[in-house]
Amino acid sequence: MKKLENKVAVITGANSGIGLATAKLFLQEGAKVVVSGRRQEALDEAAKNLNGDFITVKADVAKPGDNTILIQKAIDTYGHIDILFLNAGVAPPTPTQDITEEHYNHVFDINVKGPILAVKEALPYLKDEGTILFTNSVVTQKGFDGLGVYSASKGALRAYQRVLTAEVKSRKIRVNSIAPGPIDTPIYDKMGLPDDVIEEMGKGFAEQVPLGRFGASEEIAKTALFLASDDASYINGVELEVDGGLSQI
Ligand code: NAP
Repeated sequence: MKKLENKVAVITGANSGIGLATAKLFLQEGAKVVVSGRRQEALDEAAKNLNGDFITVKADVAKPGDNTILIQKAIDTYGHIDILFLNAGVAPPTPTQDITEEHYNHVFDINVKGPILAVKEALPYLKDEGTILFTNSVVTQKGFDGLGVYSASKGALRAYQRVLTAEVKSRKIRVNSIAPGPIDTPIYDKMGLPDDVIEEMGKGFAEQVPLGRFGASEEIAKTALFLASDDASYINGVELEVDGGLSQI
C-alpha cells in the first residue's frame, strides 16, 4: 500500500532541490501533486522528470495574488487539499552592516509572508485531519555569519507555526516543520557569491556536522513523507531537525 494514495499535495518551491525531490517521492507514493514554482521554464524542466498525476502552477509566493491563483488551480483540478508543503525559500547572505530594507523585504516576503498567505488561502480547502508542513532551517538554532535576516525569517516562521498548530486543532490538522542542516541543493548557487567562497562555506558547514557531510534532498523528502503520512499521526507542532546532528552539539 502506498503511503499517500489519492492524497492531494501542494508543494511550493517544487522545481528544485528539496521541493522537487519531495514531489517525486510523493508521486511515487500515490499522491496527486500540485508542483509550484515561480519560473515556468524551471517547472517545465522539472516536469520532464516527474511521473504520475500532477500539475504545475507558476506562482511567486511573495505575491499575494499568486497564492490565491495557486490554491484556486489546485482546487479546480483536484477539489481539495490533504497536504500543504510550504517549502519555497531564499537564503541570500548579507552581513548586518550591509542589510538594506530591500534585502529584508525580499527575504521576509518570500520566507514569511508567502507561506503565511498561502496557508490563509488554503485553509478553507484543506481537509480536516490534513497536514501542513514547512521547511524551516537549522539557522534558528545556530548562528552563521551573514545569515541574520534569513535566520530571523525562519525564526519568525517557527513562531507562526506554534500559533497555527493551535488555530487548526479543532479540525485535527497537523502542523509540522522540517529544519534541514546543510543540504546539497541549488540554493547555494543562488546566493550571489563567487564559486570559491561557496566551496569554502560548504567545507565549513560539512566539518561542523557530526556526520561530516551535507545531506541530500532525498533525505529531506523522506522526512516530509513521514510527517505527511499516517506514520506520523501523533506528531504535531514539532520542528524536526534533519541536520546530521548539527543543531545538537
Ligand atoms: P532550492 O533548490 O533553491 O529550492 C528553493 C525553491 O524555492 C526553488 O524552487 C525556488 O525557485 C523557490 N522559490 C524561491 N523564491 C520563490 C518565490 N518567490 N516564489 C515561489 N518559489 C520560490 O533550495 P532548497 O535548498 O531546496 O530550499 C528549499 C527550502 O529549504 C528553503 O525554504 C530553504 O530555506 C530551506 N533550507 C535549505 C537548506 C539547504 O542547505 N539547502 C538548509 C536549510 C533550509 P527558483 O528555482 O526560481 O529559485
